[in-house]
Amino acid sequence: MRQGQDQQTEQAVQPHPRSSDAFARAGRCIPGGVNSPARAFGAVGGTPRFIARAEGAYIFDLDGVRYIDYVGSWGPMILGHTHPEVLKAVQAAVEKGTSFGAPTESETDLAERIIAAVPSIEKVRLVNSGTEATMSAIRLARGYTRRDKIIKFSGNYHGHADSLLVAAGSSAATLAVPNSPGVTQGSAADTIILAYNDPRAVQAAFAEQGHEIAAVILEPVVGNMGCVLAEDAFLQVLREETRKFGSLLIYDEVMTGFRVAFGGAQSLQGITPDLTTLGKIVGGGLPAAAYGGRAEIMDHILPAGDVFQAGTLSGNPLATAAGNAILRELADPAVYERLEMLSARLHQGLDRAAEKIPHTVARVGSMLTLFFNSEQVTSWAVAEKCDTAQFAQYFHGMLNQGIYLPCSQYEAMFVSAAHTQEDIEKTISAAEEVFADWT
Ligand SMILES: *Cc1c(COP(=O)(O)O)cnc(C)c1O
Repeated sequence: MRQGQDQQTEQAVQPHPRSSDAFARAGRCIPGGVNSPARAFGAVGGTPRFIARAEGAYIFDLDGVRYIDYVGSWGPMILGHTHPEVLKAVQAAVEKGTSFGAPTESETDLAERIIAAVPSIEKVRLVNSGTEATMSAIRLARGYTRRDKIIKFSGNYHGHADSLLVAAGSSAATLAVPNSPGVTQGSAADTIILAYNDPRAVQAAFAEQGHEIAAVILEPVVGNMGCVLAEDAFLQVLREETRKFGSLLIYDEVMTGFRVAFGGAQSLQGITPDLTTLGKIVGGGLPAAAYGGRAEIMDHILPAGDVFQAGTLSGNPLATAAGNAILRELADPAVYERLEMLSARLHQGLDRAAEKIPHTVARVGSMLTLFFNSEQVTSWAVAEKCDTAQFAQYFHGMLNQGIYLPCSQYEAMFVSAAHTQEDIEKTISAAEEVFADWT
């Protein structure tokens, strides 16, 4: 075993000429060489590894180096890559045709599975990406309430629809500004942005303009500023204020759905949102996402109601086959017990490995982040103070030892059920080695 570990370390520190060439080639025809910015190593420097294939808990780059994967395609691969049941389901589906633009029973199967897993969802619409799910849920909330404004929280990511791609302005605490060129002032003006875990700010915003607020959207456990937990009092106030003012509470569980628990974060928090968005895991690694909630609200969507939303490839048969297969596997509580056991050990091991460095580790189930910050991260204002240069050094130290982490301090790492105890121990040893040279 020691032997194998040494071999892998040696292999991984070799240069990666094929990835470098592939990145250069991609950069000539794809902006920045990638189809989603998180893949570009922008926050940590260096060359992103181009992936040749994956299997279980491992990914293999073009140069043949194997890595223990804690990105898991940024969430979906909770059972690991190439899970036999998922592969079998997709292979069977592909033989029967890859898209019809007409309804299939597989879509109803997936809808029924989602509804059985997440009790607040009585009806559900399938879409293709998390971005589409949150964008559609916001439109539905606006159409249902006949109001325009929404509240979102700093450091929460809900995909790249205009009204959600906004940041806190520098002057007034609640005035949102576009977070990207091309997002209009008008979209930003309809979005109120508040600090996460600040119940008083929520109360103040509702006191001031509650009757104009269509919805509050949040990540109930944040993954997109690293793993950040919501405080109970904050969640309670969100539920109370939205009820009081007839606004909808939208749980964006694109990352947390089927990840932190089979029933999502809401099942751990005992909160019943009005609408929920799902993505990532629900597609089993193929492009599928969903939004759902109370039937009375969902029936406002065309053709049951008048809120427009459509999609040529929505409910795609390959994606629903993968989604049905993965949810069938996840319905076994033993999967989450295993994830908890592996993740708790990783949590404890990383915490110990970093003991001489200012840090905290945050975790919910198989989602976790090692923050280079001695203060517990509860909001973006705290997250911002992390030492991202230290993170970059840690990231590359781990990568060189064959451990593939998310390439930003502000992303959660994911454990899969395909990780072995040996993988976890190797990861902890790698972290110990990285930190051993630090003062
Ligand atoms: C990933 C993510 C999205 C966006 O999903 P895409 O499929 O990338 O469009 C939205 N919300 C949350 C919480 C996410 O983690």
